[in-house]
Amino acid sequence: MKIPFNKPYLNSNEKKYIDDAYKKRQLSGDGYYTKKVSHFIEDKFNFSKVLMTTSGTHALEMAAELINLKEGDEVIMPSFTFTSTANAVLMKGAKPVFAKIKKNTFNLDPDYLEEYITQNTKAIIPVHYAGVGCDMDEISDIANKYNLYVIEDAAHAFNAKYKGEYLGGLGDFGCYSFHSSKNYISGEGGGLIINNNNPKMIERAEYIRDKGTNRKEFIDGKTDKYTWVDKGSSYLPSDLLMALLYGQLEKLEEIKNIRKNIYDYYYKNLKKYSSEYFLDFISPIPENRESNFHIFYLKFINNSIRNMVLNKLQKQGIEAVFHYIPLHSSPMGQKLGYETSEYKVTNEVAATILRLPIYPDLSKKELDYIIKNIENIFQNLLKS
Ligand SMILES: *Cc1c(COP(=O)(O)O)cnc(C)c1O
Repeated sequence: MKIPFNKPYLNSNEKKYIDDAYKKRQLSGDGYYTKKVSHFIEDKFNFSKVLMTTSGTHALEMAAELINLKEGDEVIMPSFTFTSTANAVLMKGAKPVFAKIKKNTFNLDPDYLEEYITQNTKAIIPVHYAGVGCDMDEISDIANKYNLYVIEDAAHAFNAKYKGEYLGGLGDFGCYSFHSSKNYISGEGGGLIINNNNPKMIERAEYIRDKGTNRKEFIDGKTDKYTWVDKGSSYLPSDLLMALLYGQLEKLEEIKNIRKNIYDYYYKNLKKYSSEYFLDFISPIPENRESNFHIFYLKFINNSIRNMVLNKLQKQGIEAVFHYIPLHSSPMGQKLGYETSEYKVTNEVAATILRLPIYPDLSKKELDYIIKNIENIFQNLLKS
C-alpha cells in the first residue's frame, strides 16, 4: 500500500461553483464568490471584518503593514512555525524575536513571554499549532499590559475554537490560510480578520489589498472615480478560487467531523502505548479548546526512536513526516544569528515528533494499515 501524507479533499460542489463563476465571467478579485465566502465567515464565526487574500502569507504581510511595522521594531513569535510568520516581519525590516514554547502544545509559553519584551516590541504573533489554540487569555493580558498588537497566525486553525470562540477572532488580527495542505482549501488563498472594529484600519486594509486604490468605495458608489490613495499591493484572490473555497465552506462541519473521526481512531488504538517508555504523548487537546484536527502527531522520547519509526513506516509505503526545522536553526535563522541553545523545548519537539496522515479521503482500510504497522513497530520495541 502507498499512503501519501496529504490529499487535498474536494467534493462535487467546488466544480459547480467554479463553472458558475466562469459563466458569470467573474475572474478577478472581490467578485460574487469572494463576497459569499467573506460573508459566510463573518456570519458563521461572528467576525466584524473578513478580507479574503491571495495567501495566509499575504494576510500576515497585510497585518504587518497595518500596524506600521518598521525597521527597529520587534515582534515576538515562536520559532516552531512556518517561514511566513517570520518573513512578514522581516519584509518590513523589523526583527522576529523567537520565544519559548510549551512542552505539551508547542504553542507560545506565556510564562516566558515577558522576558522577550523590550522598548521596541510592537506585536506578538501566537501560532495555533495543529489547530489547537494558544493560551489566548494570558497572551492578551500581557499584550494589554505592554500595549502590543496581537496578530494570530491561525493558518492551521480555521474552524477551531478557544473557550467557545473561533480562533482568528481573538487578537487584533487573525490570519487564515486556504493552501492545499490545510483543512479547507482554495489551492492558494488566505483571509485577514480585522477584529478591532476600527473603521480607519478597515479602510486602510481595503486600500492596501487593492493596489493602494479606493476602488472599493467606487464600487460601493461612494465616489465617482477611483484613484491612488495609499500604499498597497495586489492581495485579492481570483473569484474562481473563492468559488472553490465556497464549496469547501458548505462542508465546514462535515470536513471537521471526518478529521475528528480519524483523530479519535488513532487515539483510541494508540493510547495504550503512551504509558510505554518510548512514547511521550499523543496529540493532546487541552481543556477549553476545540481542535479542527489539522495535525495528528506522536511525540517520542528521543530522536533516534522517532527516526526509526519514521523510516520503518516510510518503508511500508506510509508517508509519515516530521515538522519544522525550527526557524532559529534553519540556514536563514543561522544567518540572522539566532542562538540555538536557548530554545531547548523547541529543539527537542522538532527532533521527536512524527505526524501521521489525516485527511477526509483516508480510508478505513488505509487507517487500519497505518495502525497495524505502528503497532508492529511498538511491539518490537517492547520485546527488545
Ligand atoms: C501554511 C502556513 C502559513 C502560510 O500560509 P500560505 O497560505 O501557504 O501562505 C503561515 N503560517 C503557518 C503556521 C502555516 O502553516
